[in-house]
Amino acid sequence: MAKVVGLKCKECGREYPVEPLHVCEFCFGPLEVVYDYEEIKRNISREKIEKGPKSLWRYIDLLPVEKPRVGLSAGFTPLRRAERLGEVLGLENLYIKDDSVNHPTLSFKDRVVSVAISKAIEFGFDTAACASTGNLANSVASHSAQAGLDCYVFIPANLETQKIFGSLVFKPTVVAVEGTYDDVNRLCSEIANDLGWAFVNINIRPFYAEGSKTLAFEVVEQLGWKAPDAVVVPAASGSLYTKIWKGLKELKEVGLIDSVSTRMFGAQAEGCSPIATAWKEGRDFIKPVRPNTIAKSIAIGNPADGIYALQTTRESGGDWETATDEEIIEGIKLLAETEGIFTETAGGTTIAVLKKLVEKGKIDPKETVVAYITGNGYKTLEVLEGHLPEPVRIKASLKDFKEKVLAKV
Ligand SMILES: *Cc1c(COP(=O)(O)O)cnc(C)c1O
Ligand SMILES: [Zn+2]
Repeated sequence: MAKVVGLKCKECGREYPVEPLHVCEFCFGPLEVVYDYEEIKRNISREKIEKGPKSLWRYIDLLPVEKPRVGLSAGFTPLRRAERLGEVLGLENLYIKDDSVNHPTLSFKDRVVSVAISKAIEFGFDTAACASTGNLANSVASHSAQAGLDCYVFIPANLETQKIFGSLVFKPTVVAVEGTYDDVNRLCSEIANDLGWAFVNINIRPFYAEGSKTLAFEVVEQLGWKAPDAVVVPAASGSLYTKIWKGLKELKEVGLIDSVSTRMFGAQAEGCSPIATAWKEGRDFIKPVRPNTIAKSIAIGNPADGIYALQTTRESGGDWETATDEEIIEGIKLLAETEGIFTETAGGTTIAVLKKLVEKGKIDPKETVVAYITGNGYKTLEVLEGHLPEPVRIKASLKDFKEKVLAKV
């Protein structure tokens, strides 16, 4: 496979072959996939991509997989011009990248999982697993069912009911751990060393993470092969945020675009904002926190890619903001009322943070801005309880309709 050279430690630079490895044996730094960009440049073109499948697999030349084995319709979600929301926020060129309708489990995780499980099948694994805040478990369970793999998903026991059902329906073994995501992750790291399972975000993590780049590729292609001026990305481990930046730089590296001057803005919930707080305090290290927020899908207190996310912010000239639970709910409602898109708490965080960035003058009205909506609101319905009006209840009579509905308008 000429396009992939191997794996490389992000800290000491030591190189490793393409294997299910994720940490450096010498310095415990994380491993990352390294490509031969000269080779890729010879094979890739805008025309070739445009003729490819209407899924993330149109970018297979920049993914660490030989051929797609599962998740054939993941990605290629709409990039929507958001005029009505833009008007409210004071932005003339606002776009929503809408992964709330990603296939098959309605979150951006279908990107990373279709790549990770395809790779796991290439490696010969027969069991897939993950440590999840909810969406990842849904996606791993679905893709394992598609591929006929055994599946174990580990989640914090207090997840939203809809997200738990959204895994159980695919018939994996769901392990609900008493503790936070960080407890779940620590447990899974211990388990992953002993069992020959493909833990998509642990021992397969370098490959998994590459799937996130397709959220950069698609936006650039959908904007007519131009990188946006600014993007807003919700962050849990910081992997998505970091990889969107890597994806933008790769498009330039292989000659598909001439320049990238995108400012990377990160969004976290105030109740779990270890990366945003480190940025605001000018630190280059993360102080782990104990999450306390309704935004459970992005509640990671000890983010694995936190320090690389901070590097990305520095390199791109970006910034971080946080949103309170109240602001997250307002963000969900604002996006729904103006654009007809129902996102979950992570998306509410993105919209609330976008609003603050504009108010603080960090994004100019004329800039091309993309807000990444990474998950679907039907999976976190319960957070809206008490925040929406009651339906108007009437008897099945014209009289009641006239009195109770028409008389009120
Ligand atoms: C997992 C997730 C993210 C971000 O995850 P990272 O760990 O930062 O890559 C964002 N939004 C939603 C809805 C998610 O499920
Ligand atoms: Zn190392």
